[in-house]
Amino acid sequence: MPSRKRVFIALITITILALGVLLVGGWLLYFNPTNIVNRVVLAVIGSLVLLALAVASIGVIVLVVSLWSHRSFPLLQNMMSTAANILFPVAVVVGKILRIDKEVIESSFIAVNNQLVDTRDIKVRSDQVMILAPHCLQDTKCQYKITIDIENCRRCGGCPVHDLHELKDKYGIRFVVATGGTLARRFVKEYRPRAIVAIACERDLSSGVQDVNPLPVIGVLNIRPEGPCFNTKVNLDQVETAVKHFIEKQSPAFRGAEHITEF
Ligand code: SF4
Repeated sequence: MPSRKRVFIALITITILALGVLLVGGWLLYFNPTNIVNRVVLAVIGSLVLLALAVASIGVIVLVVSLWSHRSFPLLQNMMSTAANILFPVAVVVGKILRIDKEVIESSFIAVNNQLVDTRDIKVRSDQVMILAPHCLQDTKCQYKITIDIENCRRCGGCPVHDLHELKDKYGIRFVVATGGTLARRFVKEYRPRAIVAIACERDLSSGVQDVNPLPVIGVLNIRPEGPCFNTKVNLDQVETAVKHFIEKQSPAFRGAEHITEF
């Protein structure tokens, strides 16, 4: 069996085995509660579940305190990010049961992520900041295909790609355009940015943030006047604010740090 498939098969086997152990443990205790071995088995299972719950609960509590007070807790940063990322799919499932639109939950997750990044006050060199934009920002009538090379853009002002080029030059940052998640991940791997300003829809932003965690990402939602994935726009002020948030004060193009507002 090819190795790529083995990983998946191994993971689902472990999951099934773990569920089986849980099921058998509970069943044994249910029918024979006085047996000491069964009690130990259930105690171990219960402790593990409790530990997971405790870690998740602490992560969420610190997350809420951090969001509420606009303060960062460096030692608990990983716990907060992990709790947010792991609980995000659970939130989507619960939201579905409660009939909350998935896009609303994704947008909320991005807002939470942005504020968490904001409170960390990360500063890097301008050349370590990368704007990651979707190709749907390009005017569909444009004949210069920037997906091959963004320098093909003639900067005619016909779409937001022009403005993002201007930002790139102004701050000396990197600017890339991706046609999908695979290419976006490749850019991150290749250029190794230390901070990302990502422009995309709710779905792509929320999955992208989780993909590159713990790399700090400020997400800026695109604007879709003609519907999804077609001649999209972006609020340039929000992108610029996010870029400036990451750049060190000594960077030549720095014009003063700003805290991001909720995008
Ligand atoms: S700015 Fe002009 S040349 Fe550049 S991608 Fe947009 S429409 Fe094409």
